Amino acid sequence: MSDLPQESPQQRWKPAWAAAEARLRENAGQTAVRTAVPRNSRVSKLDADLLDDELTDMLREPVTKAMSLLRPQLVDKHRLEIDTAIKAVLFWLSAGSASRQATYGQSLQNLKYDSSGHRDVLRRLRMFGALSIGGAYGWAKLTSYMAANGWADAPQNSFRRMVWRMLDRLERVTRVATLLNFLAFVATGQYKTLIERVLGLRLVFARPQVAHSVSFEFLNRQLVWHAFTEFVMFALPLVNPARARRWVVRNSRAVLGLPAVTIDPAVAALPEHICAICHNAESASLSPDSATAVLGDPAENCAVVNPYVAKCGHSYCYVCIKTRMMAEADECTCLRCGQHIDRIWQQV
Ligand SMILES: [Zn+2]
Ligand SMILES: [Zn+2]
Repeated sequence: MSDLPQESPQQRWKPAWAAAEARLRENAGQTAVRTAVPRNSRVSKLDADLLDDELTDMLREPVTKAMSLLRPQLVDKHRLEIDTAIKAVLFWLSAGSASRQATYGQSLQNLKYDSSGHRDVLRRLRMFGALSIGGAYGWAKLTSYMAANGWADAPQNSFRRMVWRMLDRLERVTRVATLLNFLAFVATGQYKTLIERVLGLRLVFARPQVAHSVSFEFLNRQLVWHAFTEFVMFALPLVNPARARRWVVRNSRAVLGLPAVTIDPAVAALPEHICAICHNAESASLSPDSATAVLGDPAENCAVVNPYVAKCGHSYCYVCIKTRMMAEADECTCLRCGQHIDRIWQQV
């Protein structure tokens, strides 16, 4: 009797279950935290910028092509203006429009500028566009003008030298501030650019419930497709299309039990002094009617010039047979008998 358990089975599994349950709850909580949508996705915001840049690149090409048709020198002279115009139009249609309030790249990344706390967000967005696009254009124009006119080398204490020094300092300060702002962005995930920070423009998710990650299946398919196209682009120049076609034809004929090459009986029956290659070229270049009407029998215009003979004993013009051997390499056959040709001799 002393071997029997002192407590009932129920009492034994209860504390075990209590401990397991606590651990399960803890694990479930941790998993939920890991899979939750991040509130500040820095990668999405940086990706949105890349997508916008890609869009500008895609639009630049047709615009420059169209302009180079009119005046080729315009494209090189006004590259900066073209870029600025494309960016301005894209911004006006996307982030500058009341219904959208996000650039196309940001829309693709499910982002938009936060308009919950402020009523004048559209006005500030337009200011943001004017400052970032127009400001960058103005700055580039100003610095290139000053560089072209030698403001940096102007006499000490002259107006031009002072302005140049001031702007140089301003640029340095802006660069340092941009770097600090970016570090702050990496830390907090807000205000990617300095202008966004100054204007208080915050990017938020347009639809919080949407999963922001791209499925791995799609990514894998893209990667495989990319690798495949790269391989094809690499391998294509190595393939000789004419040779590949002949290889396919020869092998499919072998599979079907047909002879390796078909012999045209008309060519086989040509007189010995006629070059079969010249004859074929002549027949191909003339329609059947005009051939007989204007030139008589085409065969008579194709006498062998500088005759060379193959192993089978059939002779051709040297130029004709040599060209054919070089073009077809080890696939070259006699047009009259179908025998393989690898060497030729001058006919004596
Ligand atoms: Zn010939
Ligand atoms: Zn032959």
